[in-house]
Amino acid sequence: MSIQLVYAAQSHVGLVRKNNQDSGYAGPNLLVMADGMGGPAGGDIASSVAVAHLAPLDADSHRADDLLELLRGAISAAHDDLVRRSQNHQELAGLGTTCIAILRSGNKLAMVHVGDSRAYLLRDKQLTQVTTDHSFVQYLVQTGELTAEQAENHPQRSVLTRVLGDMTSEVTLDESVREAVVGDRWLLCSDGLSGVVSFDTISEVLSTTAEPEECCSQLVELALRAGGPDNVTCVVADVVDSEERLGTTDAQIVGAAGTGQGSSLIKGHTPAQKAAALSNAHTKNGPDKADTPPDPRVLSVRSKLIGIGIALVVLAGAWFGLSRAYAWTQTQQFLGLNNHSVTLFKGINQSVGPWKLYSPQQDMGVKDSELIPAVRERLEQTVTVQDRGEAEKLLKSWLEMSQKDTALTSTDPASAQNSDTPSGGQ
Ligand code: CA
Repeated sequence: MSIQLVYAAQSHVGLVRKNNQDSGYAGPNLLVMADGMGGPAGGDIASSVAVAHLAPLDADSHRADDLLELLRGAISAAHDDLVRRSQNHQELAGLGTTCIAILRSGNKLAMVHVGDSRAYLLRDKQLTQVTTDHSFVQYLVQTGELTAEQAENHPQRSVLTRVLGDMTSEVTLDESVREAVVGDRWLLCSDGLSGVVSFDTISEVLSTTAEPEECCSQLVELALRAGGPDNVTCVVADVVDSEERLGTTDAQIVGAAGTGQGSSLIKGHTPAQKAAALSNAHTKNGPDKADTPPDPRVLSVRSKLIGIGIALVVLAGAWFGLSRAYAWTQTQQFLGLNNHSVTLFKGINQSVGPWKLYSPQQDMGVKDSELIPAVRERLEQTVTVQDRGEAEKLLKSWLEMSQKDTALTSTDPASAQNSDTPSGGQ
């Protein structure tokens, strides 16, 4: 028996946001869901970059044993691309995206996942959520501080602990390989769907609707009827016996990567050509200036989880036992300023009443006057780091950047605005 995917993808900007920062991809051997973030300028670029790096994998020539390695390679290239873009364009700081990608070889499906977009599997009329959200509330669920029900409705449920892009030094993926079983139906979606449409309703639509295309339409419609507070994207794929049922083999690209900026420049017809054109278009045009209301994740993730993370930690502490939240804060480190010196701190940059949740660990031997204003600004907001090694690396690149850029980033705001951001001292 020969297996095939019959698939569809749809994306809608929703009823509140002004641009679509989700991107979805469905092809014969590849399914992708990416939900971008990065302020008004960057979310659509971030998700498009992820799709652009993954789309060339959509081929039937891969060996099953190679699938995960191929996905890791593409994700890692997308991550580096995002980091480079945010280093080269100040306005793209905080550029990042969730990403789920499923790559098929015969009856094997390899999946990688980061962020809070979700994959669901309907098998024998039973729906299962296959992915675990990389979100702060999910962390609290895992540590027993919240129930799953409380997490679903938690006001801060979209604060992410893991994404692809500027906010993290390394990408940590959830990886799996599964069997593609005839009769299975897969759904990949952004939180614009899973955040407003219940599991049971999603399950009902997937169980009772014949075609993937119709499933996508109905799910998007339900999200809109629930107020459409966010971009909503669905990718649905059925595993079928290709002797019994055939679908299109044309790739579908939806959302920012399909219809957003740069798409009019996409001349190629194969996914790879489209992806390459998309990548180039973004490089040439720089960021989109579309006016979008702030995404709560943008604010939080941009400050590397710390700003809102702290508010969350404090809230969580108040609600569920301050000690566990405090213990979590003390596993964190950040770079900040202490008497105008760049300093490595332990904890998070917040106080609860009279208690500071941080303490200086080490003076890094650099004064703020040696750094360009943009870096000083970042330091004032604090910059999370994994360890001292990462802190030293960052500081070194900032110093190089600042030395190269002294002339360009004068304190004259006009000249600072007109100058290109330095290339990051790599
Ligand atoms: Ca979203």
